Amino acid sequence: MTTPVRPTPHGFEALLRPELAELSAYSPPLSRCDVRLDANEAPDLLGDEARSRIHEVLRETALARYPDARAADLREAIAESTGAHPDEILVGAGSDDVIALLLTALSRPRPKAPMSTVLTVTPTFSMYRQSARARGQRVVEVPLDDAWDVAVDNVRTGIEMARPNLLFLASPNNPTGKLAPNDRLEAIIDAAGDAVVVVDEAYVQYASRDQLHLRGRPNVAILRTLSKVGFAALRVGWLIAPRPLIAELDKVRQPYNVPSASQAVAAVVLRELGGEVRALCEHVVAERTWLAGELESLGYECTPSDANFLWVKTPQPAEAVTRHLEGHGVLVRSFHRHGGRLRDRVRVTIGTRAEHERLLAALRVGP
Ligand SMILES: *Cc1c(COP(=O)(O)O)cnc(C)c1O
Repeated sequence: MTTPVRPTPHGFEALLRPELAELSAYSPPLSRCDVRLDANEAPDLLGDEARSRIHEVLRETALARYPDARAADLREAIAESTGAHPDEILVGAGSDDVIALLLTALSRPRPKAPMSTVLTVTPTFSMYRQSARARGQRVVEVPLDDAWDVAVDNVRTGIEMARPNLLFLASPNNPTGKLAPNDRLEAIIDAAGDAVVVVDEAYVQYASRDQLHLRGRPNVAILRTLSKVGFAALRVGWLIAPRPLIAELDKVRQPYNVPSASQAVAAVVLRELGGEVRALCEHVVAERTWLAGELESLGYECTPSDANFLWVKTPQPAEAVTRHLEGHGVLVRSFHRHGGRLRDRVRVTIGTRAEHERLLAALRVGP
């Protein structure tokens, strides 16, 4: 019989925020799989010319100097590509950083409430919950409807009952790949009152439309990132929101949150590599259609996707499918641990044709 190893109490345990007991560190699986279709990264299709241009920018980076605390040039480049004013833009070390800033700044409890509340849907991007709970905030999750769309009436009720400070809506949503119907999004924004509605457009380059028309409403903030279009290593994301909100978030931001190299490369991506990014997205969208067709013919049902991944219903339990694929060197993201209607759901990132052939070959011989 083995005795369980108990962590030595150091004394600080009693000082920890109680919510930490329910959280675990975000650690992507350490896997020996060589086909990684689990993290919604884009395939690396960068051409030689683009790569040399980036190397040139990296060579010019002043390593001994702090980054530009205002990220002025990058915000200018984002302004040029989105039509927003630089003062309406806040840059973070990935969207995760921006999400943390929003949660930190907009955290005053409503009158008589013990803590502030965040409202989102489920299933969705896990960082909204993780980051809010790490700050001691309450999280209300409204289940998506049977078609994996946002259930407006339930969200409206959630807003009335829970009086959130912040709403997070990813559109296209992760892991379902669905864009929120515009009328539903507008209805939620109208119902939100003074709460800030964050429309997370992490996958918008793969979608049939964007949601920039919502910009300029006093309670709407649009979140974007370079992570899903080939530049996850940079850790660059940004928020487009009304100036008064950006000004407050800026007080919470660590002055040097985005490294110089990332600022410089991101500006070049936006100003000069638009064609490369568009070609990548076209490749992914074409592969998405092809792979969905192949999976369907094997009995794997795919929800129509506006993102760089497929939300797949597995004929066998997702856990067994995922384990079988790992045995064949292919990693996908399973949601079976969440139980219920997620027990037979996996999320498959779109990669290259060769990677998809490996996935399909493995599925043809099992599980
Ligand atoms: C992957 C993802 C992000 C990206 O976060 P970064 O910190 O910018 O890498 C943001 N939102 C959603 C919904 C995502 O799935």
